[in-house]
This record gives sequence, C-alpha cells and structure tokens, in this order.
Amino acid sequence: MGDNMIEDKLTNKNLCTGCHACMNICPQDCVEMKFDEEGFLYPRVNIEYCIQCNKCVNICPSLKKLPEAMGNEMLIAYACQAKDDKIRLISSSGGIFSLIAQEVISNEGIVFGAGFDKEFNLKHFYSDDMNVILDKFTGSKYVQSNIGTTYKQVKDFLDNDRLVLFTGTPCQVAGLKSYLGKDYDNLVCVDLVCHGVPSPFMWNKYKEYREREAKSTAKRISFRHKKYGWKRYSVLFEFANNTEYLHTLDKDMYMRAFLKDIALRPSCYNCKFKGYKRYSDMTLADFWGIEEVTDSFKDDLGTSLITLNSLKGKKIFETLNDSVKSEEVDIKKALEYNKAALKSAEKHPSRDEFMNRLKTMEFDELVDLYCKDSFSLRLKSVMINLLIKTNTFNLAKKVLKRNN
Ligand SMILES: Cc1cc2nc3c(=O)[nH]c(=O)nc-3n(C[C@H](O)[C@H](O)[C@H](O)COP(=O)(O)OP(=O)(O)OC[C@H]3O[C@@H](n4cnc5c(N)ncnc54)[C@H](O)[C@@H]3O)c2cc1C
Repeated sequence: MGDNMIEDKLTNKNLCTGCHACMNICPQDCVEMKFDEEGFLYPRVNIEYCIQCNKCVNICPSLKKLPEAMGNEMLIAYACQAKDDKIRLISSSGGIFSLIAQEVISNEGIVFGAGFDKEFNLKHFYSDDMNVILDKFTGSKYVQSNIGTTYKQVKDFLDNDRLVLFTGTPCQVAGLKSYLGKDYDNLVCVDLVCHGVPSPFMWNKYKEYREREAKSTAKRISFRHKKYGWKRYSVLFEFANNTEYLHTLDKDMYMRAFLKDIALRPSCYNCKFKGYKRYSDMTLADFWGIEEVTDSFKDDLGTSLITLNSLKGKKIFETLNDSVKSEEVDIKKALEYNKAALKSAEKHPSRDEFMNRLKTMEFDELVDLYCKDSFSLRLKSVMINLLIKTNTFNLAKKVLKRNN
C-alpha cells in the first residue's frame, strides 16, 4: 500500500467496477474518475482535500459483503415480446426496456439510461421525453458507460417525489443502491444480464478505424441491427457521406473481440453481481435458447427474458399487459441457456497482451493476431449460419453439440 491508502482500497482492479459511487458520495469532491492505460475509469483520491471520512470505502458495493446486501432475488421469469414490432426492431431483444420506460413516462417519471454523446462516447443520461429515450437509450451498446454524477441526479429527483427508472449493468445498479443507502418507493431499477463491459478506449479505436475506412464521420451506430435477424444480429455504422457498414456479429472485428472476452474490464472476470440475488427490481436479457423452452415465440425479431425480482418489479410488469406478449417460464431452465446471468466471463489467455498492444497496434491487425478463429470453428460457423437462415436452428444446435 502507498501513502494514499483510501485510493489503494478503492482501486483494486479485480474488484473495482468503475460504478462511480465513491465519486458521487465524496463530500469534499476529492474523488475523480480517471482513465487507466487500458481505457477504464478508476477513482483517484486527492489526499490534499480528503478528510478521511471513509464514506467512499464504506459505500463501495464491491467491498461490501455480498450477496447479503442484495435484497432482491430472481423469482419469476417470462419470455416476452413488445407487441409493437417497430419497438422490437430498434431494441436488442424483445423491446421490454422501452415498454417499461413508456410506463414510467406516462406516470410523469424520469428515465436514466446509457446513450452516446456526439462523439459516440457512452454515458448515462436522463430524459422524460419518449422520443429521446427511444433514440438514445434503446438498444445495447457493448462498451462501458460512464455514470458521471447521475447517482446524485437520481437522488435529487427521488427527494422531489419524482418516479425514477434507472437502467444499467448489475454493478451500476449496485452502485446506485449503495450510494442511496435506503429504499425509495419511487425508484425502479432494471439491470441487464451482462456478459461484461469492453474498454471505452478499444471502442474509440474501433470507431476511428471504421471512420477512416469510410473516409467519413459516423452519424448513427447500432450494435444490434436486425436486418439478418435477432440471433445473427449485426453492427451498423451510418456515415455522413451516406455510406454504411453492416456486418453480422461473427464478421465484425469489434464483436469478435468482445465475444472472445479479450478486452473486458478486469472486474468482469470475477463479477460479484451475477446470480439469482439482485439489487434490481427486474432483470432483462436476450432469451437465448427460447426454442428449447417454449414454441410460442418463433420469429427472429427478438424475444426478451425478464425476471421479476421484487414486488415492485412484478407490479410494473403487470401494467404492461396490453403492450406485451408474454409466457411464464421455468427460471432455471431459461437461465440454462444464458450463462452470463450466473457466471463471469472467462479471461482470454492473451487478454493482458491484447490490452497492452491496444495503444500501439492498428485495430484490424490486433484482432487478426489475437481473435482468429480456427478453420474448424469457421466451418462450424458457416454451417450454423446456413442452418439458421433455413430455419433449422434445432439441427444447428445438434451440430454444435456434436462438434464440441
Ligand atoms: C454490455 C452488455 C452486455 C450484455 N450481455 C448480455 C448477455 O451476455 N446475455 C444476455 O442475454 N443479455 C445481455 N445483455 C442485455 C441485452 O443485450 C439487452 O439489453 C436485453 O435483452 C434487453 O433488451 P430490450 O430489447 O428489452 O431493451 P434494449 O432497448 O435493447 O435495452 C436497452 C437498455 O440497456 C441499457 N444499456 C445499453 N447499453 C448499456 C451499457 N453499455 N451499459 C449500461 N446500460 C446499457 C440502456 O440504457 C437501456 O436501458 C447485455 C447488455 C449490455 C449493455
């Protein structure tokens, strides 16, 4: 430990999720979030102004005893789809986030979620305008979102009796709940099943690579475009010069690096916020393996898995009745097909090397070097894509099992 013991405690890289609770709680404003060499935010404590109150350490959800602190539990699960296909089309899975947001807005509430700023940096914002919510928050962005001072803003709205919906990764919801330190009837929290979050520095490098290739600046980006379906979703860039880039997840360099677990935040490999115990009222996920659980949701526009983790979550879900097609499912069976809900991603053996070289190597060369698929894997992927295209997904799964 160095001279700055508080900072040393806060910045243990196996634990710190970058949730910003420490920064939001500091009464002296002496905790700042700074990017490390890999492009992840960590707290820096200015000891000159620190009064050693230890609020930052005591509030840190990663330093708390878990899961005791997490009051809620995934108890009931539903397969569901927004009835409005236009909503599903712009959402990652079944569009349930947007329906919950709509419900909160119609009750004069406010919604916090992750959206891009003008330079495509991902940040948490708030809005009570449904058009902004659909445009900015709807759809997953596979990069860590910067929380900034949103926990303080949430508290201000709550103290002014405004209904608040806060959405984010499980560690961000944990950070908010820890910061607030008490339950509020007017707060609804929705977290996501989270695979892990890649480095904002890597995201920026990839975005710049795409802009160089297109000789133009990006004006719209989607990680979950559904032109080729929900299961084979695509990354879309629309550029100012009216060109576009659209490639399925297996062909897109960024998604290959993400899904190989080679660029996740260190704490994601040992995530403390997974499992049945949750800080949130509801948890949203893609319903991978839906065809093994029920026959009722056959199209490829997207189906969500929602778990209801508190009475509040259950009540809100019931109010969506008219706008959602849903079916209760066995929660254990549903989660069998979604490992990320319960288990951390496994660290890629070359992860640290990859991250070290991120600053010096070109993005395409780096991904070529570290994220190459073997010939047999590529062949498997071609076969599976073909089978999915011809709607024989169950056969595809059997092929996959036989080959593993
Ligand atoms: C980094 C990340 C990893 C994920 N990993 C998995 C997984 O392994 N398995 C799985 O089943 N589902 C995963 N999801 C969740 C999934 O992609 C969908 O978000 C979920 O199915 C809800 O879809 P929807 O159609 O209801 O709503 P959508 O409209 O797609 O959901 C959007 C919501 O996600 C929030 N959001 C978007 N990006 C971020 C971000 N980077 N950080 C915090 N909040 C964000 C928005 O604020 C909004 O509330 C992940 C999501 C993210 C962001």
